[in-house]
Amino acid sequence: MIIAVDGPTASGKGTISRRLAADFALPLLDTGALYRAVGLAVLDAGEDPGNGDAAIRAARALDTARIDETRIRASEVGAAASIVAANPGVRAALFDAQRAFAARPGGAILDGRDIGTVICPDADVKIYITASLPARAERRWKELQARGESVTLDDVAAMIQERDARDASRAAAPAAMAADAVLLDTTYLSIDEAASAARALVEAARTRPRA
Ligand code: C5P
Repeated sequence: MIIAVDGPTASGKGTISRRLAADFALPLLDTGALYRAVGLAVLDAGEDPGNGDAAIRAARALDTARIDETRIRASEVGAAASIVAANPGVRAALFDAQRAFAARPGGAILDGRDIGTVICPDADVKIYITASLPARAERRWKELQARGESVTLDDVAAMIQERDARDASRAAAPAAMAADAVLLDTTYLSIDEAASAARALVEAARTRPRA
């Protein structure tokens, strides 16, 4: 079974995907981490994330087994990720690794922005997770506070809006809800409520005969 989970920044898709992975004993690929790792490598090389050649070089050289899970969560790395992710050469360099993960014999869960539309258009279950901008800004702000980053809630909301707009308007694999995805709005849901709603969607898909 392949489960595609997409959604905008801080929608809760990462947390929900981790819960689904545990519930259904499936391996999980956080594809945003790949773009973040490329963004971080470009920044570490002292290059501008908008420098296409540097970004493609970093994507081709990426060792997915050696991603620094702590450093990639910084807010400036998220912004850099969204800039390198607009580059078709970067997306092409990361494509095969994502497809190979999805092709694991026992199935897999992938979360990102283009999983249901580009990476796994034939996924068995597609969930598009969203939440209002104020709810997403507050969640991300709390995460950044916990990391020790001093940013205001307004700055985080502006950052999220800018990133969402860039992700949705790019020409290469724009962030979008697949036509056959189910929308899950987590604005007023607790983590447990959101996770069980997602689990119910997967259960329903498992018992539904395939078209
Ligand atoms: O989900 P996360 O915030 O970690 O993603 C970081 C950035 O990576 C996103 O803003 C987006 O630009 C990019 N991304 C993407 N396609 C994916 C996953 C993430 O373009 N499948």
